Amino acid sequence: MSENFYITTPIYYVNAEPHIGHTYTTLIADTLARYHALAGESTFMLTGSDEHGEKVLEVAQQRGQTAEEVAEYYSTTFRETWDKLGIRYDRFIRTTDPDHRAVVQGVLQAVYDAGHIEFQEYEGLYCVGCERFLTDRDLEDGLCPDHERAPEKRTEANYFFKMGPHFSWLSEHIRENPDFIRPERYRNEVLSMLGEESGLSGDLCISRPKSRLEWGIELPFDSGYVCYVWFDALINYLTGIGYPDSPQFEALWARAEHCLGKDILKPHAVFWPCMLKAIGLAPPRHLNVHGFWNADERKVSKSLGNMISPLTMKEKYGFEPFRYFLLREMSFGTDSNFTEELMVTRINADLANNLGNLVSRTLNMVKRFTEGQVPEPGKPGELEEEVAAKAQAILPEIDAAMRSNRPHRALEALFGLVDTTNRYLEQREPWKVAKLEGGEESVRTTLYTCCEALRITAILLSPFMPETAEEILRRAGQAGALEKARLPESIAWGGARVGAETHKGQPLFPRIDLEALAESAE
Ligand SMILES: [Zn+2]
Repeated sequence: MSENFYITTPIYYVNAEPHIGHTYTTLIADTLARYHALAGESTFMLTGSDEHGEKVLEVAQQRGQTAEEVAEYYSTTFRETWDKLGIRYDRFIRTTDPDHRAVVQGVLQAVYDAGHIEFQEYEGLYCVGCERFLTDRDLEDGLCPDHERAPEKRTEANYFFKMGPHFSWLSEHIRENPDFIRPERYRNEVLSMLGEESGLSGDLCISRPKSRLEWGIELPFDSGYVCYVWFDALINYLTGIGYPDSPQFEALWARAEHCLGKDILKPHAVFWPCMLKAIGLAPPRHLNVHGFWNADERKVSKSLGNMISPLTMKEKYGFEPFRYFLLREMSFGTDSNFTEELMVTRINADLANNLGNLVSRTLNMVKRFTEGQVPEPGKPGELEEEVAAKAQAILPEIDAAMRSNRPHRALEALFGLVDTTNRYLEQREPWKVAKLEGGEESVRTTLYTCCEALRITAILLSPFMPETAEEILRRAGQAGALEKARLPESIAWGGARVGAETHKGQPLFPRIDLEALAESAE
């Protein structure tokens, strides 16, 4: 039986268009799912939309629409965007889906029956943006730092989930499983949140009175209240794979990983494990936490209007170069800066000059010297063995990087093979050797070696740039190689089909003129 791999994105809140941050998280999940599938695992990727809560109502009021209409509009926008970008999700869940409502009510009832929920009066500072009460420690100059607005003083009787009793086992779990929250900086952040001096409340308010908010899932034990949006949202990770009755649930949950941005660390690393424990489920295996994308060194935000739409990037540069840049540029966990200039520089260096150039040169020479067919190689020499060895040596590096969630490192290792192959071609100089008497066998060996290195490169590139990988294989006469591709067997040296017809085609990644780009921006 194959291993399972279950990966999620956060479900995206339906009050804004998809931007670079949503795109990055979704790409990470998509790339990891594709990689694990290539490694022979049975994968499930979940994404979706988070549709309840006050912020949706705010947008609806501004627009003179209903909450349902706003939710429907943005949910559709997210789903269609991922479809246009070729994201391969297994389910797009909406928190307004009937099965989700049923699961949330089931969980609430179970947690209530087990005595983890109490009814209390509470007075506090409430941030409408965060949809929660804040403590004095959360504020900066009296404002919510995330929303730059002053919280309102509110008194309410509400239902509270007693999280406090869970903090000690959760701290222990985090210490004993160092890769539960990764990278390490976020693990430390959560451990200090759970420390006594952090002031984190052990009581999580999980209800909203219907008198001020009706847009939510009704509490099964009190029809005067709806469920707090975070409590409802997190449970999507269970609904998405058929909790509680689906036969696949247990196996997938045992291999669950969440991808998330650092701004939603607390709900995922604190609320969620406590909620799971209260219904007898283990925490997910990993929380993969990434940093923010800044645009021109400024935080991406709706008010600054610098959101960077993935569809605009697709139109301008093609989606896969943008995808490559995001995956390669961000060191997973830390913040990164996005500018079109940085992106174009990397596209030109890595994709046009390095990978694209190797494809063009190889296939041009195959056309010129071996009638456009993958040639039969002669006996490999030392240089060929070096390329073959490199092609095998990078897999453990890539695998370790992907399993520790460092896709930028995996791409770095993979492009090491492209470098090696380009260097090899320079050393063998088939364009000169072809003119020498008796040089024909050497040329065949060289071009076979390059075609084979391209085949292996494309297979390993497929989780990161699926369309590019298909195209390289098609041009190199190895179309269909991805259909049954499995690691490590599929990258064993010698898999390229000899005699296959190649197609050199137009440059895969035409160089982008930075100066022209700068001028058009002026
Ligand atoms: Zn706030």
